[in-house]
Amino acid sequence: MHFWLICIILLWPNEVRGYGSMNSYGEQSIRIGLISDDPTERIQQTFEHAISVVNSDLSIPLQGDSANVDYGNSVHAFGELCRLMQNGVGAVFGPSARHTAAHLFSACDAKDLPFIYAHLSSSQQTDGFNLHPHAEDIAHVLYDIIQQFEWSRFIFCYESSEYLTILDHLVALYGIKSPLIKVMRYDLNLNGNYKAVLRRIRKSEDSRIVVVGSTEGVAELLRQAQQVGIMNEDYTYLVGNLDLHTFQLEEYKYSEANITGIRMFDPDKKEVRELIETLNRAVGESEPLDLGSSPITLAMALTYDAVRVIAETTNNMPYQPQQLNCSERHDVVQQDGSTFRNYMRTLEILDKTITGRIFFQGNVRKGFSFDVIELQPTGLIKVGTWEEGQDFEFNRPPQVQELLDNEENSLVNKTFKVLISVPNKPYASLVESINSLIGNSQYEGYGIDLIKELADKLGFNFTFHNGGNDYGFFNKTTNQTTGMLKEIVEGRADLAITDLTITSEREEAIDFSIPFMNLGIAILYVKPQKAEPALFSFMDPFSKEVWLYLGIAYLGVSLCLFVLGRLSPSEWDNPYPCIEEPEELENQFTINNSMWFTTGALLQQGSEIAPKALSTRTISSIWWFFTLIMVSSYTANLAAFLTIENPSSSIDSVEDLAENKDDVQYGAKRTGSTRNFFLTSEEPIYMKMNAYMTQNKDMLTETNLEGVDKVKAGTKYAFLMESTSIEFNTVRECNLKKIGDALDEKGYGIAMPKNWPYRDKFNRALLELQEQGVLARLKNKWWNEIGAGVCDAKSEDDGPSELEMQNLSGIYLVLIVGSILSFVLSFFYWCLFVFKRAKFYDVPFCDALAEEFKIVISFAENERALKSAQSVYSRSRNSSQSIESLKTDSEDQVPEEE
Ligand code: GLU
Repeated sequence: MHFWLICIILLWPNEVRGYGSMNSYGEQSIRIGLISDDPTERIQQTFEHAISVVNSDLSIPLQGDSANVDYGNSVHAFGELCRLMQNGVGAVFGPSARHTAAHLFSACDAKDLPFIYAHLSSSQQTDGFNLHPHAEDIAHVLYDIIQQFEWSRFIFCYESSEYLTILDHLVALYGIKSPLIKVMRYDLNLNGNYKAVLRRIRKSEDSRIVVVGSTEGVAELLRQAQQVGIMNEDYTYLVGNLDLHTFQLEEYKYSEANITGIRMFDPDKKEVRELIETLNRAVGESEPLDLGSSPITLAMALTYDAVRVIAETTNNMPYQPQQLNCSERHDVVQQDGSTFRNYMRTLEILDKTITGRIFFQGNVRKGFSFDVIELQPTGLIKVGTWEEGQDFEFNRPPQVQELLDNEENSLVNKTFKVLISVPNKPYASLVESINSLIGNSQYEGYGIDLIKELADKLGFNFTFHNGGNDYGFFNKTTNQTTGMLKEIVEGRADLAITDLTITSEREEAIDFSIPFMNLGIAILYVKPQKAEPALFSFMDPFSKEVWLYLGIAYLGVSLCLFVLGRLSPSEWDNPYPCIEEPEELENQFTINNSMWFTTGALLQQGSEIAPKALSTRTISSIWWFFTLIMVSSYTANLAAFLTIENPSSSIDSVEDLAENKDDVQYGAKRTGSTRNFFLTSEEPIYMKMNAYMTQNKDMLTETNLEGVDKVKAGTKYAFLMESTSIEFNTVRECNLKKIGDALDEKGYGIAMPKNWPYRDKFNRALLELQEQGVLARLKNKWWNEIGAGVCDAKSEDDGPSELEMQNLSGIYLVLIVGSILSFVLSFFYWCLFVFKRAKFYDVPFCDALAEEFKIVISFAENERALKSAQSVYSRSRNSSQSIESLKTDSEDQVPEEE
């Protein structure tokens, strides 16, 4: 019996046993609750994100249990609180609606359940743990800022009575030496139409306005102020809402109105960026967050920090929250609740929060610090830090201060340190000179000229410094920058100009000018090469088969002619027409003549032989027609074959490259944005290419130049490069070519420090240079003039080209061999003739040969005597034999002696 009882207790879920709970991994965890009235659910998402972040530091993880209620619906919120209590939450973070929070606080207080919340509260009484600054704190900051402004009068514009507490504290701080304060109320209940109040402000003689109210209310008031015409250089606004950084301020940037505000955290902080990433993932890429300058509101930041406070507490004390029943009849309270709260009071958290240092005095958060921010044309700039207990002074960044002091001529006589990458043609390279150059004069290039043009316009001075090949990246996780970026971020350089691509990731650490050149990633590869002409390329127009059948046809037709000639009576002729009754007839179609006839026709030459019979004429006509077609086809095809380019290029697109078609390897600049494009791309094909480049690190190069050299070496290597640089190289290296279209579209910009005060001036000057055609002229100079023109038009043009000796060497060879063969034959028959003659005249062969040779080489004589007195043959026994008969017979038959 006892055994079973123990088993049941052990197997009973933790929640039911009343302490702790199991998380989804089956581990012990501490449940914490959230009751949010944010309809966008971003508070809930922030809560979940914060839990996942803090859990990495905790031995017993936290587990979130959240509920969303309508704003101000206390009944629903209370119901949800009861549910959370029953689930055994150990602490609760409350909603923003002030009355709902007060209601929940008293319910939690009754059960000794720690309750944390974050909204503007008028009193500093012990009403739960409030992470939001109190009205008194805000009044204090506003007071210090107004003191710095030295205002003697201003308008205090508030949204509703709860914000009047700020005014109370402000007046209390001034005491009797208060400036003149005009108080005006703008009310959301006026259907959001604040124009009447704003018109009153316009008519009044005051132009300095302190605005306090809700985020939506203040944002709307500023918008309507612009419509009413009081958003200009005559007006100064001091905004007491802590969400100013989330407002859409774009349209006020250039209004020249002075807008100053406060914020509790830097939107560029690591924790904030991570939160933004999580929220963006949650909403999906289709609708990324856009709440203005920064999407993280103070409410979200404080939700995150509340989780951190709870985590720090549970990490340091044993805490096993129980399930509670919120009905009044159950007087069970959270056993460790008061220990938890007491522990929280002793905490001091310095880092890993969004809103900075957190500690409590009683239940009141203390130790605030605020960033004082001002709207400049470049956006919101931090101009000072307000810290509790310390004197406040504006501490504007020197650039902003200078800009304010000397608005018009701020760039004149300033000297900027400009980073370039040398050598990196055509952007910057060393001037080739026999004299040793120093300073700026040692550099030349597009980037150098562009800075000179800008300096001429804006009046600044500059010194160039080689920043190396690494342009740099910004690592969001570690908050680290590298390369040129690092130099700028750490203030060792002011500008960087090279083929520096504007990327969103770099934009987080530095600013860029507007793009001065547009480009995209493409492929650099060797041009298709002409195939080496073959010796017998004149055979190419016909396939081997056609040549074979042509030979067979030639022999067949010759044979047919021979047979048909013999069969046709008309082909049998009288050899001696003078003899009317010849004893024998002769046929012209001997086998030799038949072949000669077909040969003549095949080579389009004809012969003396003329067929007479119908059959021979028919076959001749067919053969002529056949040869006509064959020869025309051959001629037409020959030209095409002899001029054809046999391209050796095996890749035509990025797809071919990704497949390593024809074993072509590829790479990119190791530290460049091209490589980064593949690293961050989510396209399957680019991911595949990225995996290839990651595995084959030796394919990556340190500079573009190295990549170009690798391609030029012709070792089946393609280089992924930006189109502008490709264009520069292909004009100079004639065997290189750009393959395919650009993979993306982007631009080069001049890098400068974040919120650099001269950015607008630079952009305006760049625009002017663009409009005046200076950028185009510089591009033309460095791309198409200096060092270009190496590749002639012919090589660019892929049209037909003339035939060269290599194309026709085969046919020359045939001619030479044919000529030599005819010489050999002729020599052979000449020897035979001499031999017969020697035999006939009965003289020694050598004598006859010498005699004949003399006749042959007497080139002046075109006749030969039958027999001269000096002739060797005159001694012969048969001198009457005609030399002529010997000559004619020599090739056919042996002369007969008489
Ligand atoms: N333009 C690149 C960058 O800004 C360098 C060259 C490249 O990666 O192709 O990093």
